[in-house]
Amino acid sequence: MISRKKLIAGNWKMNKTSADAVALVSDLVAAIGKQNDVEVVVCPPFTALEAVGKGLEGSTVKLGAQNMHPDASGAFTGEIAPPMLRAIFATHVILGHSERRSYFAESDEFINQKVLSALKNQLRPILCVGETLAEREGGSTLKVVQTQTERGLEGVSKEQAAGIVIAYEPVWAIGTGKVATTEQAQEVHAFIRGLLTKLFTEAVAQKVRILYGGSMKPANAAELLAQKDIDGGLIGGASLEARSFADLVNAAIAAK
Ligand code: PEP
Repeated sequence: MISRKKLIAGNWKMNKTSADAVALVSDLVAAIGKQNDVEVVVCPPFTALEAVGKGLEGSTVKLGAQNMHPDASGAFTGEIAPPMLRAIFATHVILGHSERRSYFAESDEFINQKVLSALKNQLRPILCVGETLAEREGGSTLKVVQTQTERGLEGVSKEQAAGIVIAYEPVWAIGTGKVATTEQAQEVHAFIRGLLTKLFTEAVAQKVRILYGGSMKPANAAELLAQKDIDGGLIGGASLEARSFADLVNAAIAAK
């Protein structure tokens, strides 16, 4: 069986000025040192990306964006294009986060355009999928996750697919303090890996990292990260403070 390198990504959302973000990343880099056992990515807001990128020079921590437009340039006021991210050495981009889906009405089709564009521009997409509380209670969790995954990955080739990261984020667990049980999370992660096997191949599915996101913190990380199909975490609240972010990285190192 392939062993997948665990990945811990911090989604800072609309938090931190550029100066605050640089201070946080400097504390984080000091706390985790130059380790290579786990891949670590920080996703600050756009205004802090370049400064944080400079702060990461010489470290093993990578830079990600929280969103992007699929086009390379043009009349899209307020948007950021993939080549702009590449120019400041971003390597990852979060796409289809539930906050983008719900507050900004992003459709699976638009998210799919972004996924294809990220891949074309050598950015690694972190595609977020997950059900709402009503959908879970209505018994449609797997159907929702299937639709979002299949539509989000339409047109992605086998060769490209291995490099994609998927984040399973139950919407009811994001920022609520309600974490999915390890059984709930593992069930959906295994389901996603099965889907990837059908869409691509078993070999590809075994390479794709599937992260859990939704109130993951140092206190619950070890149990989640010990699950067979949980390859890391997409972390919101607990990534806003260097100590808890570093503790999550250490939990992933211990679980590798
Ligand atoms: C997120 O926004 O991707 C997230 C998982 O947030 P939190 O960890 O705060 O639930």
